[in-house]
Amino acid sequence: MSSDPGAGGDRRGRRLPFDGHVHTSFSPDSEVAIDAYARQAVELGIREIAITDHVDLDPRAPAYACASFEDRRKAVRDAAHRWAPLGLHLRFGVELTYERAWEDAARHHLQQNAYDFVIGSVHVGADSPYLASRVEAWIAGKSLPEIVAPYFQEVEAAARSGLFDAIGHIDFVKRYLAPHVPASDLAAAPELLEPVLRALVETGTALEINTSGLRQAAREMYPSPAAVARYRELGGERITVGSDAHTADHFAWALSDGYAAAEAVGLRPSLERQPVAA
Ligand SMILES: [Zn+2]
Ligand SMILES: [Zn+2]
Repeated sequence: MSSDPGAGGDRRGRRLPFDGHVHTSFSPDSEVAIDAYARQAVELGIREIAITDHVDLDPRAPAYACASFEDRRKAVRDAAHRWAPLGLHLRFGVELTYERAWEDAARHHLQQNAYDFVIGSVHVGADSPYLASRVEAWIAGKSLPEIVAPYFQEVEAAARSGLFDAIGHIDFVKRYLAPHVPASDLAAAPELLEPVLRALVETGTALEINTSGLRQAAREMYPSPAAVARYRELGGERITVGSDAHTADHFAWALSDGYAAAEAVGLRPSLERQPVAA
């Protein structure tokens, strides 16, 4: 049974190489045990999972000092040991919240702590104009480029930082704008995403196809297949795919759609590290 209204039944991916973005009880917004994902992966024929719990560097943010690096590392390594005999590979990753204001802290964290895969993502933090309490006032009287600029400027800076193997959900702002600005408006202005796509290509940072958007208000992936195609046109070669599950039943959710968008442009998703260290 699916908890997604309108999701149309079980959309979990099957027989796929990996789910590259999931959250466990080491994230403040998830209660899932690693084994709950691992069990499904074995059942569904998914050979690898990147466990990518949140790390926030702003002391006001929910995943600031939520769980220690060592506790997270040990939990994933212990689980990896348990599941390896069943053919499942568990990768110790992280989803680090990026903001320019905290870039030095992000660099320091990654110098001190070794992960197998690092996603950098821009979220909607304490100062964000996209918070539900602020977004309507933010939008009022602004053009679409003005509305999205704060989000896309941060995402571009995340790619330019060179700190990350992949950038997560590059147009996640669609989720927060959805009640006011439909995703179709953004789709009609693809030039707004162009600087982000160029930054990914120029730095060799992977584009994440995050399928959680299909179960959220935007009702499309982050980013859409059209943006994936544009990334490829610009010379992009590196793609990762993740469900961004925060609950067990969202593991691998719509993952096939993400793989299909990559394969449509001739790319095979992978969890390769960023080749050039920051
Ligand atoms: Zn995220
Ligand atoms: Zn996430």
